Amino acid sequence: MSDITTVIPTHDTVILGSGCAGLTAAIYAARANLKPLVLEGHEPGGQLSITTLVENFPGWPQGVQGPDLIENMKQQATRFGAELKMAHLVSVDLSKHPYVLNLGAGKDPIHTRSIVIASGASARWLNLPSEQALIGHGVSSCATCDGFFASGKEIAVIGGGDSAMEEALFLTRFATKVTLINRTENFRASRIMLERAVAHPNIRFLSNTVVEEVLGVEEKDVRGLKLRNTKSGEQTDLPVSFMFLGIGHIPNAKMFYGQLDLDPDGYILTHGNVFPTHNGVDVPGVFACGDIQDRRYRQAITAAGTGCMAALEVEKFLEEYGR
Ligand SMILES: Cc1cc2nc3c(=O)[nH]c(=O)nc-3n(C[C@H](O)[C@H](O)[C@H](O)COP(=O)(O)OP(=O)(O)OC[C@H]3O[C@@H](n4cnc5c(N)ncnc54)[C@H](O)[C@@H]3O)c2cc1C
Repeated sequence: MSDITTVIPTHDTVILGSGCAGLTAAIYAARANLKPLVLEGHEPGGQLSITTLVENFPGWPQGVQGPDLIENMKQQATRFGAELKMAHLVSVDLSKHPYVLNLGAGKDPIHTRSIVIASGASARWLNLPSEQALIGHGVSSCATCDGFFASGKEIAVIGGGDSAMEEALFLTRFATKVTLINRTENFRASRIMLERAVAHPNIRFLSNTVVEEVLGVEEKDVRGLKLRNTKSGEQTDLPVSFMFLGIGHIPNAKMFYGQLDLDPDGYILTHGNVFPTHNGVDVPGVFACGDIQDRRYRQAITAAGTGCMAALEVEKFLEEYGR
């Protein structure tokens, strides 16, 4: 911290993001009487709000719809005094404490003693209207989450990197056949992962191929893919019941470039799960949780777990720093 501003902060803690990490942090911070403010961001409710059935969140033996789970978390947080605000962080100067959060033109800045970064990592999509319409109905970006629903089905995986190979190999546990679709004939995957996928009898490769449309919008269920060969221009239909995207994620950490240490793909590096650094040094009162600092597990329960840790660290920080 190079500078101290004289403004008295209006908030003890502000949580950036309303996915399961941010909302869990809000529940804990609210129950500690910290009256957290949650900035909901561009995707209120986070990634779970765009999916359907979640079957692996503990406590829901029959599964729970993603949006319902999120709504419950919101109610739980607000019941204890958390405030939710439709706004997102545009910029902040982490060298000046207390922190001043800039929410964009025409919006009053917010002064806070601590920040919980729970801004997530958005999946990369092909951005086809038919694909967007079928997310949660046979289109998914999370093999760990939705692989089980592909049991006994023929499916497609999109991508040519390690994530796509990993997803395709994992999905062979459920699907009868996996078609891996890559837009070029060059694969970014490591040799070992590529060789494993090539050697698998239930994975076949379609190179130089792009998806033009996901079929099944009317039925609200994936029925196949309309494909185009980028070399020959030939169009074909591939009958599959599921399409998994394996083309990576974009961590929402742009506002911290140059202020926090990030890995080469832009995820916030943390130690002790929730402590980010700048040039290897802790940044007082700033904590990160959920997918923004977790490129490995990316699950609702792990995001919630680190959300809890971040809120407990906020409490400790405020005890030491004073309110
Ligand atoms: C289709 C799909 C299905 C899934 N199914 C499952 C499943 O069945 N089980 C499971 O465990 N996991 C599942 N996941 C993964 C799970 O959704 C994520 O691991 C989890 O949502 C991560 O939570 P998070 O709070 O870290 O981030 P996110 O859910 O990504 O939330 C990020 C939040 O940050 C906000 N934000 C971003 N930038 C800013 C900013 N500048 N200022 C303020 N706020 C900002 C966004 O608006 C959003 O509210 C699924 C994911 C997808 C995409």
